[in-house]
Amino acid sequence: MNDFDSDMAAGLLKKEGHEIVQDDDSADVILFNTCSVRQHAEDRVLGQLAELKGEKKKRPDLVIGVMGCMVENYKTKFFADYPHVDILIGTRSIPELPKAIETVRTERRQVLELAKTGFGYELLEMPRLEGKFHAYLPIMTGCDKVCSFCIVPYVRGREISRPLREVADEVRRLAEIGVKHVTLLGQNVNSYGKTVASGESVSADFATLLRAVSKVPGIEKIGFTTSHPEDASEELFQAIRDEDKISRRFHLPLQSGSDFILERMKRDHTLAEYRKKIDRMRELIPDIAVTTDIIVGFPGETDADYEATKKALADIQFDGAFIFKYSPRPHTAAARWEDSMPMDEKNRRNNELLNLQKEITKRKNQTWLGRTVKVMVEDMSKKSREEVLARTWQEKKVVFKGSGTLIGSSLRVRLEQVFDETYRAEVVSIPPPPRADHSGRPAKTGASSSSERAGTKEFQPE
Ligand code: SF4
Repeated sequence: MNDFDSDMAAGLLKKEGHEIVQDDDSADVILFNTCSVRQHAEDRVLGQLAELKGEKKKRPDLVIGVMGCMVENYKTKFFADYPHVDILIGTRSIPELPKAIETVRTERRQVLELAKTGFGYELLEMPRLEGKFHAYLPIMTGCDKVCSFCIVPYVRGREISRPLREVADEVRRLAEIGVKHVTLLGQNVNSYGKTVASGESVSADFATLLRAVSKVPGIEKIGFTTSHPEDASEELFQAIRDEDKISRRFHLPLQSGSDFILERMKRDHTLAEYRKKIDRMRELIPDIAVTTDIIVGFPGETDADYEATKKALADIQFDGAFIFKYSPRPHTAAARWEDSMPMDEKNRRNNELLNLQKEITKRKNQTWLGRTVKVMVEDMSKKSREEVLARTWQEKKVVFKGSGTLIGSSLRVRLEQVFDETYRAEVVSIPPPPRADHSGRPAKTGASSSSERAGTKEFQPE
């Protein structure tokens, strides 16, 4: 969601005649788009803000602004602690950004914009930066779950879905300006359609929305984030199975392998229920890559709870996992409970799970070697100007020889080697069969050609 906020802020400012620059020295406005989900992210922003104090003294006309969740979290406390900050813009007030900059410049005063009611600005049509092949698209805002560790419902508000017709129209508009890859965003996209915007009935669930977006000509790839196990449905798994454009990476946060901790986290499911969903997903979509989030050191986590999480990782065999150390967030239920586990022990658990997952990811990545898969080229490789960086439909990174003209193209490549989590590949010359099988196994229809078997190296975007 934060990437989307940044894109939208940049689009708004460009529309008002501002130019986006990447370094602080040439900028006359510096904006921080912030996240409050973890303490570490907040600490980094606060450190950078403190560093700008001297710069503001040297250049009093410099405008410094903070947007996003930290503003909702701290409100005017920012101005008290960081008086050199000029603008505070909450998560639902980003359209006010150009006006706020103007006010600071003309009236020389600080500006705070916090919308308390109404829909998130994500539900409005916003200017976009043209020339991009990928776009984020919020389909809903807020969250109605009450996970006891999570600050999101506090900073983003109640859950509201955007009508399907509006989402489909916006995807069509994006396709018209050259977007080929959309990522549908929401705190819990799986519950799309339960709470509607503007009194209009959404009359669709997330599976229906995905099927509708898949029909938009010009869109080649559709991703989504984030999911909640309780709302991940059979219909959703069937839609992914049926629609080739949908990404084959499913990120489904588990958080803990202990039912006791899951209950304290108010996650509304047990480990057994979670596993049942994963098993069904893998049964319906054999080429799916499943990733997860885990929190260690949650208040009350015993050795046995931790061992249960370790066992769950070993049993489920995720393709990847983000492992976090618990840190209390303000306004949450868990923040009122004793956070008594010493940091050394949290670090030990964190590192042990990271190492375990690293081995699992390595083993799983090896099983893809030799397969021919579809990829979308995203950028030039950071290590070589003669190579491009692409991602498979399982969102695994791949590099191969190619030029910048390939960015945004879909190709088929054969995975030859894997280093850490990045594959080296050779491009194969055939376009994918009409119904591409992202697993790399022979397609359901259409014979493989001799050029694929020979592995010729000419580029042929789809
Ligand atoms: S479902 Fe996700 S966003 Fe909503 S409260 Fe739980 S962790 Fe937070």
